[in-house]
Amino acid sequence: MAREAVYQQSDPETAQADNLPREQDNSLRPRAMAEMVGQQDVIERLQIAIEAAQKRGEPLGHILFDGPPGLGKTTFATVIPTEMGTTVQMANGAGLKAPKDLLPYLTNLSEASVLFIDEIHRVPKAVEEYLYTAMEDFRIDIILGDGVNARTLNYELRPFTLIGATTRAGMLSAPLRDRFQIREHLGWYSHNELCEIVLRNANKLDIPVDQPSAAVIAHRSRSTPRLANNRLLWVRDYAQSKADGKVTDSVATAALDMIGIDPLGLDKQDRGYLDTLMRIFAGGPAGIEAIAHTMNVSSDTLEDEVEPFLLRSELIVRTRRGRMATEKAYQHLGSVQPKLF
Ligand code: ADP
Repeated sequence: MAREAVYQQSDPETAQADNLPREQDNSLRPRAMAEMVGQQDVIERLQIAIEAAQKRGEPLGHILFDGPPGLGKTTFATVIPTEMGTTVQMANGAGLKAPKDLLPYLTNLSEASVLFIDEIHRVPKAVEEYLYTAMEDFRIDIILGDGVNARTLNYELRPFTLIGATTRAGMLSAPLRDRFQIREHLGWYSHNELCEIVLRNANKLDIPVDQPSAAVIAHRSRSTPRLANNRLLWVRDYAQSKADGKVTDSVATAALDMIGIDPLGLDKQDRGYLDTLMRIFAGGPAGIEAIAHTMNVSSDTLEDEVEPFLLRSELIVRTRRGRMATEKAYQHLGSVQPKLF
């Protein structure tokens, strides 16, 4: 039986804007690789690995996905077992606090099935060490009792595939990282790919969305499918309440303006970050901890969910002395860059 993942919403402030309830996320999640949009090079490499493993009659090698939230790591972890014709158990690194938390998953594995561990960088060292032998030798050594009565049981596991996902590949220890045979970084989606995702999902949900409206939604979705889905659902609600259910580009624009999603796709938290950096820290350089402290959010949230897009959009730069706002950030927020000299 597949185990339900323990998902955490990263920040209640942005939960409404950025995270869909699990059921909705699942209902829009592609069921097969052929339904996935973009990431073509990743898909091609995975298909080769899947085909080869199937020809050899072996489980697929362990796979690590990394990249910002909402780009498809969980989606890959659910479509790969489907392609392989096997089952998946889902766990979250934050929920695996002690080696015993790992045991039910490992002992439930069936031949060539998949264990998915989301946020694998959050697995503590003691649990990680169990993963080493599990991944390499399909074996775990359980220590029962303690002191003179302690004894070790060697437990054989059925050969399986571990799929790990992380937003922080750099936080993974080298021994764990090296045990993944396939490592894939998921990159941002192009405007056209996001338009396609919006149009396909509008179709699935039976929302009449035309190309110009899809373009408005895609444009404001920060190159991220999860945000595109979320924006689409909000535009649907807005259109049903204010425009007889008709989605036009101006309805989509008004709907997104209303929840503070601007033309670059930034939300309130992104603009709060820029405002803090530009106003309180005079444009920087400022350390991430200082910015996080001032905004009263965790630095992890800023590093995972806010900064990647601001960096990519050239609104901030990271220097050795800290983060700095760029000319483009001043132009975007309509304020004047302070003169330093
Ligand atoms: P992550 O695990 O990286 O945070 P998910 O895999 O949960 O992201 O993706 C979030 C949502 O975005 C999914 O439910 C799915 O609807 C959509 N999505 C992600 N990647 C794709 C893709 N390549 N094609 C279509 N939809 C996608």
